[in-house]
Amino acid sequence: MKKSRKQLISRLIAALLCFAALLPLSGCGEAKKTQKEIFAMDTLMTLTAYGKKGEAGLAAAEAVITSMDKMLDPELPTSTVYAINNAQGAAVVVPGQIAKMLSTARTVYDQSGGALDLSIYPLVKRWGFIDGKYYVPTDEEISADMGLLCFDKLVLNSFPSSGSYSVTLPAGGQISFGAVAKGCASDNAIAAMRQAGVTSGIVTLGGNVQTLGLKPDGSNWNVAIQDPNNTASFLGVVSVGETAVITSGSYQRNFTDLRGKTWHHIINPATGYPSSNSLVSVSIICEDGTLADCLSTAMFVLGENKALNYWRTYGGFEMIMVTSDNRIICTKGLIEKFTLSNQSYTLSFSE
Ligand code: ADP
Ligand code: MG
Repeated sequence: MKKSRKQLISRLIAALLCFAALLPLSGCGEAKKTQKEIFAMDTLMTLTAYGKKGEAGLAAAEAVITSMDKMLDPELPTSTVYAINNAQGAAVVVPGQIAKMLSTARTVYDQSGGALDLSIYPLVKRWGFIDGKYYVPTDEEISADMGLLCFDKLVLNSFPSSGSYSVTLPAGGQISFGAVAKGCASDNAIAAMRQAGVTSGIVTLGGNVQTLGLKPDGSNWNVAIQDPNNTASFLGVVSVGETAVITSGSYQRNFTDLRGKTWHHIINPATGYPSSNSLVSVSIICEDGTLADCLSTAMFVLGENKALNYWRTYGGFEMIMVTSDNRIICTKGLIEKFTLSNQSYTLSFSE
């Protein structure tokens, strides 16, 4: 899963931004700070823990992320996802993390009318977002790959007596966890830190953030939301307790074709083309990182009105949407929590 140098640099900037926004605040309090940077899932990740258990916590978090990375790479012949995609319709035993991602993704798939569809992988590959060999597919290629969509036919079985799970995917279908893996990885990293005895910490996986407890001084964390128009800067800050803050944006991975049209990496499963609506980014604030990551991709595809309707119907999360005409729409639970720092945007809160 090679990415271009430009993309890696932009991801590095995103990670540094999140980190920079946290820096002035994380120095407060007396707790010892332990920090580690790792590169996994094509993403620069910064893991931070406070207190005496910090080193053990970060070692546990790193181990869990590294193992998920190996398990989820669809191009790695030893990965579980590779096994699922090449099983020709046979059942494959999968670990609990995969079962959790699949069941959360299935819920969001059903509730969003298929806006999040993990079986979109053949199209993501066709557009070149996996190997970096970007390409605008022909209509025939798009309809051929659309014929491989099969998430509704994926069967997840659980065997409570042994605590194991299996997955069956129709032959020819291919799934990937690109839209959900980092959210699940941050969930698991935070859980590993907590189990190691850490009570205050934060992980940033590219532009995605998840927190454990509060800052060592007992105050909220301040998480920067990247400015899609200037990825070296941020447009505002959201003040949060223990939660995930996960962003999908067209600026995160894209290419410009010979005609000068720019195509990004979030594909609308209804068309086979990168989703095209007024949104340039969506950030989801939700305690469950796996759900937050599923929602960030799904809401991005749905567009602002349908995303707001989804939030009104199902709730359980808050959302910051940024549009191409410089509007920021926050859900009303963020009224006291979101602070705009770039005045070229118009901010509104939605009921
Ligand atoms: P990022 O991976 O940049 O954090 P997302 O969480 O939105 O952003 O995931 C986007 C990735 O998910 C894409 O790079 C692609 O691999 C995959 N993907 C693209 N469109 C969809 C979709 N509609 N449903 C599920 N996965 C998708
Ligand atoms: Mg996502």
